[in-house]
Amino acid sequence: MARAFNFSAGPAMLPEAVMRKASAEFLDWNHAGMSVMEMSHRSKEYMSVAHKIEADLREVMAIPDNYKVLFLHGGASMQFSAIPLNLTQEGDTVDYFNTGVWSDKAIKEASRYVNVNIVTGGEADNPTEIPDVAEWSFSDDAKYIHLCTNETITGLEFQEDQLEHVFAQGKPVIADMSSNIMCRPIDVSRYAIIYAGAQKNIGPAGLSIMIIRDDLVGHAREITPTLLNWATYANNESMFNTPATYAWYLAGLVFEWLKANGGVEAIASVNQRKAQKLYDYIDNSPFYYNTIKPTQRSWMNVTFYLTNNELESEFVQASKAAGLLSLKGHKAFGGMRASIYNAMPEEGVDTLIAFMEQFAKTHA
Ligand SMILES: *Cc1c(COP(=O)(O)O)cnc(C)c1O
Repeated sequence: MARAFNFSAGPAMLPEAVMRKASAEFLDWNHAGMSVMEMSHRSKEYMSVAHKIEADLREVMAIPDNYKVLFLHGGASMQFSAIPLNLTQEGDTVDYFNTGVWSDKAIKEASRYVNVNIVTGGEADNPTEIPDVAEWSFSDDAKYIHLCTNETITGLEFQEDQLEHVFAQGKPVIADMSSNIMCRPIDVSRYAIIYAGAQKNIGPAGLSIMIIRDDLVGHAREITPTLLNWATYANNESMFNTPATYAWYLAGLVFEWLKANGGVEAIASVNQRKAQKLYDYIDNSPFYYNTIKPTQRSWMNVTFYLTNNELESEFVQASKAAGLLSLKGHKAFGGMRASIYNAMPEEGVDTLIAFMEQFAKTHA
């Protein structure tokens, strides 16, 4: 069977070249006589894989030397608890943006441990825009500022000018980049911490990645569980206990694929084109519409509704039959969502647009 275009928000489509390479190495990796997933994480072979993966990630994202890269379990969600436990003491204050479901979850978790000041947002369940900087209120004594750069469910993404205003506060900035990491070049040195679950734009589920400035490791509260303490990972090459070895290896294949295809810069121009043409089509069709503020729309998660919402389930069924999978939107937001991460070929977006056009014609 041919591979379909899979628009799932996560776990999500992986590059075909990566899947083929993994498949070719599945039974016997590099003449080791076994699969990577059957190897001891402490073996020389696996350690060499792990070191290369970190080196490739550092190259792909141009990570400065004073940053550590941690490979973790527990998803991005586990870091919602780890962040306050590693960086604050009881009674401290922290600043959080509330721009959607994921930032809200981070806030709920942080609120168990510290005083959370909401910089902006939180009134509406699924905001469709990030308010103007004039409406933001930071607290003077915040230990850090947390934000989710791309709200995956709605497709709402922070833009450069707003991020500049965040950096200008002079506080450590912590970013949940689960759904837009590596979609374009960024200057890692502007952030204190970048973290992401792998299953959107990096690899399979089970692995998450943290890029963290050296000096932020080693301050965890006494009560912090060992596996939530970043020092545990930093001091043990992310191998204090058994890591998600196979997911880690697959992420490495994705980094190799990115490098071979011109890196993040090259993929960024493809991503921009993919998103632009899909939004252009939606905006110009009376049949579909998008509710996100046009200047803050995500490159990665494109949400849209059908003007006649009674046709939604038919749209989902027909798109599936046409080989366009997982387009149904998140239940919290409704409508449709096309997640078009790095691994989604431009052809997938072209095919989607052609399908939408055809569907609109036959249902006008
Ligand atoms: C998917 C997602 C998460 C949750 O990731 P898990 O790995 O399931 O914990 C957190 N933040 C964002 C922005 C996401 O898209």
